[in-house]
Amino acid sequence: MYHAPTDLDAALDLMAGASGTVIAGGTDVYPAAGAGPVPQTMLDVTGIAGLSDIDTGPNGVRIGAAVRWSTLARADLPPAFDALKTAARAVGSVQIQNAGTLGGNLCTASPAADGVPPLLILDAAVEVSSAAGGTRQLPLSAFLTGPRQTALQPGELLTAILIPPPSAGLVSAFEKLGSRRYLVISITMVAAAVALDDAGRVRDARVAVGAASPVACRLPALEAALVGRNAQDFAIDPAHLAPLAPIDDVRGSAAYRRDAVAEQCRRALRRAASA
Ligand SMILES: Cc1cc2nc3c(=O)[nH]c(=O)nc-3n(C[C@H](O)[C@H](O)[C@H](O)COP(=O)(O)OP(=O)(O)OC[C@H]3O[C@@H](n4cnc5c(N)ncnc54)[C@H](O)[C@@H]3O)c2cc1C
Repeated sequence: MYHAPTDLDAALDLMAGASGTVIAGGTDVYPAAGAGPVPQTMLDVTGIAGLSDIDTGPNGVRIGAAVRWSTLARADLPPAFDALKTAARAVGSVQIQNAGTLGGNLCTASPAADGVPPLLILDAAVEVSSAAGGTRQLPLSAFLTGPRQTALQPGELLTAILIPPPSAGLVSAFEKLGSRRYLVISITMVAAAVALDDAGRVRDARVAVGAASPVACRLPALEAALVGRNAQDFAIDPAHLAPLAPIDDVRGSAAYRRDAVAEQCRRALRRAASA
């Protein structure tokens, strides 16, 4: 049975009443099925009113959970969102970007999900809704509870990603390392944002790393050390990378990932500071 509601309340009623698989672009759902059967009951969220909209207002930016990467890449958003837009252009291929959604990326909760670091540096929260519980919001960092694990409860849909108004002058950049340019899972990725004072020194810094810990995370010691400094030639200390716990796998060794992240931090900070 394939349900494609256009109304959120109808979708939440379906979620409450049946067990099935939520699907958006399907670019994670179908590969996950492998050679086995695809889920028998699916709830397609991409036609639900409002879930594919990007709205900007006094409280910041609201990105519907079913907004596709290609829409995000072309969206008119402040420079603080440049990392997210660069990540959108780096996901998979044009075909994947035309089908895949930001919400699907967050719900899959891969440690290598390209959408997560650019949202962490924006202090993003998520909005989840259910028929029984109404709507609740939680920080993205609390939504992602582990590799491929989220705080979504049975009956809940991710409905939006909420970004508070970015601080004045904040500009971001995204660095993705893969074994080739496109159609590749990140070995590591870094999103960085800086706002500079009149003397060109860092006033506000945010750095987040993906694919180097069970869940992508911010680097608070690096962010604090950057304040008052020149982001163009800042030396990354191993202590700045303390929250990371990279693993050895087919894509790279832990040591390689640490080295790569340090270089990606330097590059992302330089690009954000010179934009
Ligand atoms: C060839 C290929 C290349 C890829 N390259 C990249 C890449 O470079 N970077 C990257 O990060 N990812 C990549 N991916 C993974 C995938 O494309 C992304 O994670 C994409 O954003 C998933 O979105 P989707 O809409 O297709 O999710 P779907 O497959 O539809 O859903 C993914 C998961 O989220 C759940 N879900 C979706 N929407 C909701 C919702 N609103 N509420 C609750 N649950 C929901 C589904 O039940 C499912 O568990 C790639 C995939 C493929 C096949």
